[in-house]
Amino acid sequence: MTYGFDTLQIHAGARPDPATGARQTPIYQSTAYVFRDADHAAALFNLQEVGYIYSRLTNPTVAVLQERIATLEGGQGAVCCSSGHAAQIMALFPLMGPGKNVVASTRLYGGTITQFSQTIKRFGWSAKFVDFDDLDAVKAAIDDDTRAVFCESVANPGGYITDLGAISAISDAAGVPLIVDNTSATPYLCRPIEHGATLVVHSTTKYLTGNGTVTGGCIVDSGKFDWSASDKFPSLSQPEPAYHGLKFHETFGPLAFTFHGIAIGLRDLGMTMNPQAAHYTLMGIETLSLRMERHVENAVKVAKWLESDPRVDYVTYAGLESSPYHGRVSQICPKGAGGLFTFALKDGYEACVKLVDAVEIFSHVANLGDTRSLIIHSASTTHRQLTPDQQKAAGAAPEVVRVSIGIENADDLIADLDQALTKACG
Ligand SMILES: *Cc1c(COP(=O)(O)O)cnc(C)c1O
Repeated sequence: MTYGFDTLQIHAGARPDPATGARQTPIYQSTAYVFRDADHAAALFNLQEVGYIYSRLTNPTVAVLQERIATLEGGQGAVCCSSGHAAQIMALFPLMGPGKNVVASTRLYGGTITQFSQTIKRFGWSAKFVDFDDLDAVKAAIDDDTRAVFCESVANPGGYITDLGAISAISDAAGVPLIVDNTSATPYLCRPIEHGATLVVHSTTKYLTGNGTVTGGCIVDSGKFDWSASDKFPSLSQPEPAYHGLKFHETFGPLAFTFHGIAIGLRDLGMTMNPQAAHYTLMGIETLSLRMERHVENAVKVAKWLESDPRVDYVTYAGLESSPYHGRVSQICPKGAGGLFTFALKDGYEACVKLVDAVEIFSHVANLGDTRSLIIHSASTTHRQLTPDQQKAAGAAPEVVRVSIGIENADDLIADLDQALTKACG
């Protein structure tokens, strides 16, 4: 029997606590777990038996969240970690090596562009940024050293939707995995694995938790990629010296990436999610579908109102018919284009700065995916580190403001923007 999304977001991965019958998943606030005996300990350390050793690797509360997210995404397994950015490093880590590159979309979260264009160089990795609407350019960018293709399903913040089917056809033909950041869409609106994604990464900080309380990340593996088809992925296909020559792909099959993420990634990089964070995210995820429906409904109303306002130059939201990406909504995210969009003010940079100071319900913060509505002027904050060209390519030009539409009354949000625009514009 297969259950619907609303049922799975509450039940997948969880069961009444075997020790106490507790109906809600307990916060297992324990660093270590007692071994039954010396043989049990040896089997756990040899990866011959699955169980709990030490909470840097596995924790029962975090394990419930991992199974919940894997199920909602339609994946084989998942690894949670300390933030969305940690998830991105953990996703690339088994694939990359010195001299290897990732082909990435120019339309990414600002922090990801910085992580990929600057920080990963310290590992000897590099990123090649291309326009993912130019399929020939994506094809041309993939070379013998490419180990992954990376994009967002619904890109933050520019109202852009990736044609995941077309991109996965290219990555498949090249024999490299496609990693999709599904943070902005969530599995309720988009399921990248159904469009050919190999791995899905999340900042659980955002909509999955949904209430702005904890940072977290997750990597979901589709289990579909053949890591042994070429010699490109030795971490997964070749003997692992740290585990007596065990080959992850041969031993764990479709769970190879997940086991590697725990047994090597979390063990050695230590970007672990703590059980308190997992608890908050489990609480949030129970209402994901209800919240996403309202986020989308409100975003459409507010975006339409802004589009018709003379002080606003343009609105980039794929949920609007005026968007060049509107046609991809029915294909990629049929339940809606999410709750995030940008709009540009005719009065430019100065008016944007005044607007973020004048709003009353909207909070001026560097976050998204909260129940409450949020606003930020990307060019002076999150996208500050980027060059003007990168800002433009990422949909964060100087005259552009980003909003994350919350689940309040849409009429109140419109009234708030109206009074703030009156103060901000000439
Ligand atoms: C926030 C965000 C990230 C980074 O996540 P953190 O939890 O802040 O590390 C990555 N991708 C997208 C799309 C995001 O919105």
